[in-house]
Amino acid sequence: MSGQEQVVVAVHNLHRTFGTKVALANVSLDIRRGGVYGLVGGNGAGKTTLIRHILGLFTPQAGSVMVFGINPVVNPPAVLSRIGFLAEDRDIPGWMRVHELLSYTRAFYPDWDPAFAEELRDMFELPPGQKVQSLSRGQIARAGLLLALAHRPELLVLDEPSSGLDPVVRRDILSAIIRTVADEGRTVLFSSHLLDEVERVADRVAMLHAGRIVLDESLEQLKSKQRIMTLRFAVPQSAPPILTGAIPLNGAGKEWTCVCEDAELVRMAAGSLGVEVIGESAASLEEIFMARSSKG
Ligand code: ATP
Repeated sequence: MSGQEQVVVAVHNLHRTFGTKVALANVSLDIRRGGVYGLVGGNGAGKTTLIRHILGLFTPQAGSVMVFGINPVVNPPAVLSRIGFLAEDRDIPGWMRVHELLSYTRAFYPDWDPAFAEELRDMFELPPGQKVQSLSRGQIARAGLLLALAHRPELLVLDEPSSGLDPVVRRDILSAIIRTVADEGRTVLFSSHLLDEVERVADRVAMLHAGRIVLDESLEQLKSKQRIMTLRFAVPQSAPPILTGAIPLNGAGKEWTCVCEDAELVRMAAGSLGVEVIGESAASLEEIFMARSSKG
């Protein structure tokens, strides 16, 4: 398989405005087959807008989006039949009973796997005769997940999959499903504001801040490079200090805690300025995100 075929989603210089609001600014990213790609960012960062372009629901104002090498706006069936999508708002008809929902959705997907759908229905504790409108919020979230999974899509796109799910389902079932899909050589793109969750399941993470990609890296690389360092300055600093490679997270006076992209570089810069490194540890995705957001 060539490198090009390995790229399931190719986004290049995608730009989108709503009136004067820039929702996506020159966003480029490649999502490769068989991985779990976490899309993180605060409220209004542009995650859902990016996902809508990938699904072909928005036409790029500038730039391009290709999925499986196909333009999703030009040929939606060829793309959407290979995607499983869980929308953030879980748009499911309330008047349908669970079994009707399954047979209705099945009609759209030639590859629907009824045995797998039944297995998921059972695992998600969704009574077949119950109307969707009488399901709990958590059950509706699980029903949405079932619909996204049951045709075993090549690309699974989950927009905030955790919202509505209780912590146990979120931690044990959702993570297991996401990992299984990737281990089977299929691809997962999921957006989340829960950074610990992304840290647990993603192979690669893209961070959007105010419509811009501020980070796009494998989690392994990211975690191995980024360190938290606490620095002690000789004199109190009245503002967050500027030190090459160090992004201040918090602090006051002489002591400041920073996220450092290259610990060695910061040690050298600190040494030459007479700044003491008094603590060092691995950075969590949450800390990296906070630092990048403040920089972005
Ligand atoms: P959230 O986590 O809150 O859902 P998000 O990262 O998914 O946020 P988007 O929904 O993509 O962010 O929104 C990006 C920006 O574009 C926001 O400022 C939002 O208000 C704006 N926006 C999105 N869709 C529209 C629309 N249809 N009309 C006008 N503005 C929009």
